[in-house]
Amino acid sequence: MTDTNISIIGAGVVGLAIASKVSALTDAVFLLEKNLKFGQETSSRNSEVIHSGIYYPKDSLKAKLCIEGKELLYRYCDKYEIPYNKCGKLIISKSEEEDSILGNILEYAHNNGVQDGKIIEKEEILQLEPNIIARQAVFFPTTGVIDSHSLMKRLETESINNGTEIVYGSEVTNIKKINEGYEITVSEQSGSEFSFTTRYLINAAGLNADNISSLTGIDKQEYRQYFWKGEYFSLANGKHKLISRLVYPVPLKNTVGLGIHTTVDLSGRVKLGPNAVFIENNRKDYSITPGHKEEFYQSVKTYLPFLEPEDLVPDQVGIRPKLQKPGDSVRDFIIKEESNAGFPGFVNLLGIESPGLTACLSIAEYVLKLLQF
Ligand SMILES: Cc1cc2nc3c(=O)[nH]c(=O)nc-3n(C[C@H](O)[C@H](O)[C@H](O)COP(=O)(O)OP(=O)(O)OC[C@H]3O[C@@H](n4cnc5c(N)ncnc54)[C@H](O)[C@@H]3O)c2cc1C
Repeated sequence: MTDTNISIIGAGVVGLAIASKVSALTDAVFLLEKNLKFGQETSSRNSEVIHSGIYYPKDSLKAKLCIEGKELLYRYCDKYEIPYNKCGKLIISKSEEEDSILGNILEYAHNNGVQDGKIIEKEEILQLEPNIIARQAVFFPTTGVIDSHSLMKRLETESINNGTEIVYGSEVTNIKKINEGYEITVSEQSGSEFSFTTRYLINAAGLNADNISSLTGIDKQEYRQYFWKGEYFSLANGKHKLISRLVYPVPLKNTVGLGIHTTVDLSGRVKLGPNAVFIENNRKDYSITPGHKEEFYQSVKTYLPFLEPEDLVPDQVGIRPKLQKPGDSVRDFIIKEESNAGFPGFVNLLGIESPGLTACLSIAEYVLKLLQF
């Protein structure tokens, strides 16, 4: 008999979503987090966009979980009054060549099951966003932005109400497979250490998920995470008032992110970004390179003509845990129950980059199915 039934490592949005769902079905759920509060890493350093799932390869987990997750998330927000803004997203063209790409984007979206997109012409674009320059656009009206802090707070409350024990300031430092499950060693911020046993173990450790997998005993090359920084600059001098939606350029071939775009948060702040800077194995580099401001300015000034370089101020940085390095092809999320590797009851979640926020609730449901709850 183990001390606890299910242990989840990581109180980001994914670990919290899993804890809230699984604790509704079973007792003895533990959620371990090394920081003193939830969501101190990637879950609070992103664009907060509720994505539609248009760009991900058809039938990939990213596409499936994003499309399902978007619906679940809007319903969850309505139920618990979590603030969101279904402001819609415009992907704009600036040349004849880009006009034809918009058609391809729409077709790709339809194939993925995203039906709400439509091509709109200049006049309609200007009704939505009078201050931008665009020839045509694909408009996805159900894309939105969410207050991710309120979402995580609600998931934390629900988890606790369902009986989850959340242990903050506790870093998992060792994992040993035992007969009936796993023995976990935890270092507390006070310096003390404790161990306990768990029947099931879920690795939702975000940037650290590959290390947790290795600690358990699964150290595959294809599980290695590579880190890509995403920097943001926000709009100052009142210029944020000139834009109210998510505006994306047509994605360039072989880009790793979605191109420098505008993101509007619930407080009205407008951020530009994120870019994608490969930082290989440095999972702690939250510095912003001031020199990148010029790059940002050059890439948006063609469609945001009202901007001057001094309107851009350095804002936040987030780090994507990707499963690919430069030059590799796009990889899907890995969400896997590891019985085949000899670790029954252990679920690995690796490479949970975007759309992990949008998909948090569908990821949680997927994990429960893997564990047959
Ligand atoms: C720049 C950027 C922009 C993005 N924009 C969007 C977007 O607009 N829409 C969208 O859907 N997604 C977006 N994402 C993706 C989204 O933010 C992530 O997919 C999501 O936040 C991942 O959540 P998580 O819980 O897996 O990871 P995290 O939030 O990183 O949480 C993992 C937790 O595990 C803890 N942990 C790690 N190791 C240990 C240990 N040994 N012991 C205990 N605890 C541990 C960490 O402290 C952390 O709190 C973006 C990501 C980035 C980087």
